[in-house]
Amino acid sequence: MLSARKAVQSLQEYHPPLAHRDGLRLDFNENTEGCSPRVLERLRKITADDLARYPEREPVEAVVAAHLGLAPQQVLLTNGVDEAIHLLCETFLEPTDEALVVTPTFSMYEIYAGATGARVTRVQCAADFRFPLAKVLASITPATRLIAVASPNNPTGTAARRGELLQIAEAAPDAAILVDEAYFECHGETVIGDIGEFENLFVARTFSKAYGLAGLRAGVLAGPVEQMPSVRRVSSPYSVNAVALAVLPAALADSDHLSCYVAQVKNGRERLASELSAFGLYSWPSHANFLLTRIGEKHREFVQAMRQRGILVRDRSADPGCDGCVRITIGTDAQTSQLIVALRQVACELELGRKVKA
Ligand code: PMP
Repeated sequence: MLSARKAVQSLQEYHPPLAHRDGLRLDFNENTEGCSPRVLERLRKITADDLARYPEREPVEAVVAAHLGLAPQQVLLTNGVDEAIHLLCETFLEPTDEALVVTPTFSMYEIYAGATGARVTRVQCAADFRFPLAKVLASITPATRLIAVASPNNPTGTAARRGELLQIAEAAPDAAILVDEAYFECHGETVIGDIGEFENLFVARTFSKAYGLAGLRAGVLAGPVEQMPSVRRVSSPYSVNAVALAVLPAALADSDHLSCYVAQVKNGRERLASELSAFGLYSWPSHANFLLTRIGEKHREFVQAMRQRGILVRDRSADPGCDGCVRITIGTDAQTSQLIVALRQVACELELGRKVKA
């Protein structure tokens, strides 16, 4: 009888809770304002001929590369960061290799690495979720072939420093170092300018978050010119569709739309953090478009009570080190006000934290 490869049999399916998402979607770190109107304008001009052709990636790759200050040979457009992770695993991991991830983090590193048969080593953050540099360095072995770090990290919102990431790249020259900068726009610190200096440093970016295009599935993998031809060899030439390719230049061109969104996220992050702390609820300092807060044993009731008020937030209490934690995406200023009204009601109703306000 046909059976899946051994490594695949032991994988857990990643099944995000996408059903019944009516209301204010603060559960998936999407841009809840939406993409630039220029993107929608370009979308309306798509013709039957545009759709009949196979999509040509290279011209848009050149536009994206120029935007990032990189050479086109250093850049590969992908079907979201998800595909970028998948490609790196397929390019570099043998079943006898090790992949290193820093937990808690985005699930797909472990899934794609695990699917190759490679062993996944988890390095757990301390309780403050600060990047555990010393532990990561100590966990590198001669078999380490991939180290994936989300910075800012999901679900914690904390970030590794540039110097720390470069230290890892230096310490593991035989490993591909993936710095996943999916939330870069809300943070500002990057190692993308360091790619030219290392033969093993890769950076992933996405159009799913700050650009508001999660449904289009477009991401970027940037890496050393010496390594990118190998990655291209395992990639489908058509994984980024024609509609996505048509609108990406328009998305990049509207920097005002992006900065207006980012300003609202930074403002909302502060407002929400201070609101949570007024209830005695801890949240970790976040560099992304969400906050992780420790609700405690009533985390399930909290998510449910927010849902009853039309606001979706994500229970992350099953993530390692995240007991009782809930992740809340930051929306626009108006959405943050709506969130705070609901939060006050729910905190009172569930008697959360120390100081329960009226
Ligand atoms: N990386 C991180 C750290 C994420 O949080 C997410 C989405 N939750 C992704 C990658 C996936 O990005 P994309 O939509 O580009 O595949």
